[in-house]
Amino acid sequence: MLRKAEISNKEKADIQTLMKFVGIYCRENHDGEKVSFSFKLIDLKEFTKREILLCPDCHRLLTYGLTMRMKCPHDPKPMCKKCKTQCYHGEYKAKIREVMKFSGMYLVKHGRVDMLYHYLV
Ligand SMILES: [Zn+2]
Repeated sequence: MLRKAEISNKEKADIQTLMKFVGIYCRENHDGEKVSFSFKLIDLKEFTKREILLCPDCHRLLTYGLTMRMKCPHDPKPMCKKCKTQCYHGEYKAKIREVMKFSGMYLVKHGRVDMLYHYLV
């Protein structure tokens, strides 16, 4: 378990963005059974007041994304697409791109352009 002090504001913002984007994507695209997201490395209550309900696929994707964000060796973290250490591979890379694109558009359509500030990939 990481202590609170080890998470910077930037990391916190990135983590919140990831959770929000994957949450929107799943809500708008996937039906079926959803489970409340949990992640062992951080205390999610510090990041979001709401429960994040995700299908098993998005659960895996968000777990992967958060793990990679926590493990990012760069400080400050560059934009992922400009980074030399590409931590998203294959299936995850394609998926996270799709998620960012979809949820980015969704937020624009709903007037939440402020959220785009933290575009990750
Ligand atoms: Zn989903």
